[in-house]
Amino acid sequence: MDKDKEFAVAYLRYSSHAQDHGNSIEAQLTCINNYASAHNIKIEKYYTDVAKSGRYTYNRHQYLQMKADFESGELKSKTIISRALDRYHRHTSNQLLDLDWIEDNGIRLIAINDSIDTVSPGYNKFAAAVVAAMAEETSNNISKNTRAALLECAKQGRHLGGIPLIGYKVNDVGLYEIDELTAPIIRDIFNLYASGMGYSFIKKHLKSRGYKTTNGNDFSDTAIHSILTNKKFKGTYTYDRTASKDSDGRRNSHKEKSEYVVIPDGMPAIIEPELFDKVQEKMAQNARKQTHRTGKNYYALNGFLQCPECGKAFSGNVNNSNGHKYLQYKKSCDCDLKSVRADHLNKFVFHAVKNCIFSPQNKQKIMDAVNQKLSLQKYIQCGETNAIQNKIIGLEKANSNLMKYLEKGKATDTILAEIDKNEKIIKQLKMQLDSKSNEISEIDDKAYECLVKKFNNYMCTVKSPESAALKAALIDNIQIGKENITVDFKPGVTIDENTKDYFNAG
Ligand SMILES: [Zn+2]
Repeated sequence: MDKDKEFAVAYLRYSSHAQDHGNSIEAQLTCINNYASAHNIKIEKYYTDVAKSGRYTYNRHQYLQMKADFESGELKSKTIISRALDRYHRHTSNQLLDLDWIEDNGIRLIAINDSIDTVSPGYNKFAAAVVAAMAEETSNNISKNTRAALLECAKQGRHLGGIPLIGYKVNDVGLYEIDELTAPIIRDIFNLYASGMGYSFIKKHLKSRGYKTTNGNDFSDTAIHSILTNKKFKGTYTYDRTASKDSDGRRNSHKEKSEYVVIPDGMPAIIEPELFDKVQEKMAQNARKQTHRTGKNYYALNGFLQCPECGKAFSGNVNNSNGHKYLQYKKSCDCDLKSVRADHLNKFVFHAVKNCIFSPQNKQKIMDAVNQKLSLQKYIQCGETNAIQNKIIGLEKANSNLMKYLEKGKATDTILAEIDKNEKIIKQLKMQLDSKSNEISEIDDKAYECLVKKFNNYMCTVKSPESAALKAALIDNIQIGKENITVDFKPGVTIDENTKDYFNAG
């Protein structure tokens, strides 16, 4: 029967614009198919462009394909059917160009809802262009309204859609609230960086805690950097026209764009402004230092060593001479002084430090202080643990509800994907719980002895906020003389006779 039918192609376009309601692909398809069957037309081919703006043609592959197919003579059809003219174009000049193209190629255009049919006696190219102009006006309004609405929301400090920034959740009225589940991640990152830890230490720490980005990835350098520089964490609400960064730190451009809205205290702060500023300062310092970094080797006493003559620093580097390779501390002045082996000096200094700290009369004081800190940590963690526990319960409940749908045979890809997503989050949260419950909450005599034994090696090899703080609290400076090495302790550090002997013998 096809012989009696006229052939046509159908063109459909769906943009994901929220305001583009009523233009679903299904609605367009039904409309076109109903029209075709009522008019005894057979649709030869469907061309569908999805989620592209109607304002420009260059990104509409199917639209261009359709034109190409007409021009190459591949189609039996000489007719295009669409639900409305605005499916073709929302830009008048393009519209007129294409109306010319339609005319030149002898093609018939039917726009069902606009009652346009280019072969009908009443057809008028300019009337069609007017319809197009109206469509364009609508499009302009949509984008204008969207921009205006976003700006208005931004001025009220509201969340503007998408996944909320890590550390925050969005409440019923669209305002930010601190998410106690992810806020600890932000606090850890800022505190660790402020205490002198580098990105690799921070990454390792986050991983050991089971912390992930909003997208479920491990934290990258870029992600950490973008968190450390985001003013929102100190409570400054900002609205930037450029696409917002996700928690993996990706965004289209690295250039700093002008911010349209900046509201100090426009949202709850996770980080104290003082800490935030300290971190910015530190980042600037580190950027300057970058050029003469010591690389991967860790020099535990860097920053404490100096020349007794002129006061200039000794700092770590690798000695490669005479076939032996070892780490050493080297002078930076012209005084007549030799380098010292890093491992020897480290051991020597930290042995003395150990004797000062872990003296018998200090033992009880240290254990009390450690236990006090551990119990405080435990108390803080109780809150975090509860929050995680509750989130797991919520997700498990959600999944069991979704499973009920599955049992009723109503499985859809969306439901399956949702269950899968929830399972992944549950797994992550359980890892976080595990790492928290593994932390010790009290030390006894045995743990104390173990701590003392490990102390020297720990101080020589581990770069951590704790080791840095300890050094800063105890050591004032170390003079590397020609004959002697002198360690000056901070005032208040008591040194017993044994240690004094050790020093003078060493
Ligand atoms: Zn010197």
